[in-house]
Amino acid sequence: MTSGIMTEIPETHPRRDSLILRERLVEGFKGGIVAPQGLIAHGRGEAMYYLLGERTTKEARIAARAAAAALLRSERPVISVNGNVAALASREVIALAKTVGARIEINLFHRSDERVSKIQAVLESNGATEVVGFFPDESIPGLEGMRGRCSSEGVHSADVVLVALEDGDRTEALTRMGKKVVAIDLNPMSRTARTADVTVVDEVTKAFPLISGYAEEMLGDEDALDNALVKYDRAENLGAVMKTIASNLGLGD
Ligand code: ATP
Ligand code: MG
Repeated sequence: MTSGIMTEIPETHPRRDSLILRERLVEGFKGGIVAPQGLIAHGRGEAMYYLLGERTTKEARIAARAAAAALLRSERPVISVNGNVAALASREVIALAKTVGARIEINLFHRSDERVSKIQAVLESNGATEVVGFFPDESIPGLEGMRGRCSSEGVHSADVVLVALEDGDRTEALTRMGKKVVAIDLNPMSRTARTADVTVVDEVTKAFPLISGYAEEMLGDEDALDNALVKYDRAENLGAVMKTIASNLGLGD
C-alpha cells in the first residue's frame, strides 16, 4: 500500500523510520482509515518520541513485561484498535491478540460506520479472525454519544483492555468500570499514561512486538508472570521516563 512513496525516502535518510510512519498514516488517511485528527495526534506522539531519543527505554521494557503478564493472566482480554493503530500496526496487533488469546475491538473516537468497516477489512486481510465493534451494543458509563459506545462481546465484558493512542477520558471511564487498562502511549504526562494500570511509553509499532515477545517468553511460567507484575510500578516507571526526557533536554537530574 505504501511502497510507491516509501521508495522515494532514501535508504540512508537519518529520519527514515519516522518518515515511513508518517507516510503510512497519510496513506491510511487517504484510504479512509485514519481520521484527520489522527494525523495531529501522531504529531504529538512524534514530539514525545523525539524527546525520548526515538528509542525503546529500559522503562518501556519493564512496562511491556508487566503488560504481557496482565494480558496472559486475563480471562477476557481485549485489544482496542483505532484508525492510527490500524494504519501503523495491524499485523503487530493481530500477532499479540493470537499470543494472548485476545479479541480485537475497533473503537473510534471519531466514529463512522464506513471507517469501522474499512479498518475491519484491513485487520481481516492481515489475518484477524475475532474482530468486534461494528455493532456497538453497549455503553461505557460517563462518556457521551458514540465515544461511549462499545461492544458487549468486546470491551464491555473484558477484564483487561489494551488501549493504544487512547484519549484520557475514555481511559478514565474504563478504569471506573473496573477494567484493568494497559496503555501504549508516548506521552508520559497524558491522562491515559497516568490513569492506566500499566503504561508502556513507546512508539506503537515497537510496543506491540515488545509485549508479544515477552508474552511468548513467559507463557505458562507463573513465577515469571508474578515477577513481571511485582517489578512494575506505574508512578516510578513514568517518573524514570520523565527523567530520561529531562536529561535529553540537558536539564540534568
Ligand atoms: P490524554 O487525552 O490522554 O490526556 P492527549 O489529549 O494529549 O492525551 P490524545 O490525542 O487524546 O492525546 O491521545 C493520543 C495519544 O497518543 C497522545 O498521548 C500521543 O502522545 C500518543 N501517540 C501518538 N502517536 C503515537 C504513536 N505512534 N505511538 C504511541 N503513542 C502515540
Ligand atoms: Mg485526549
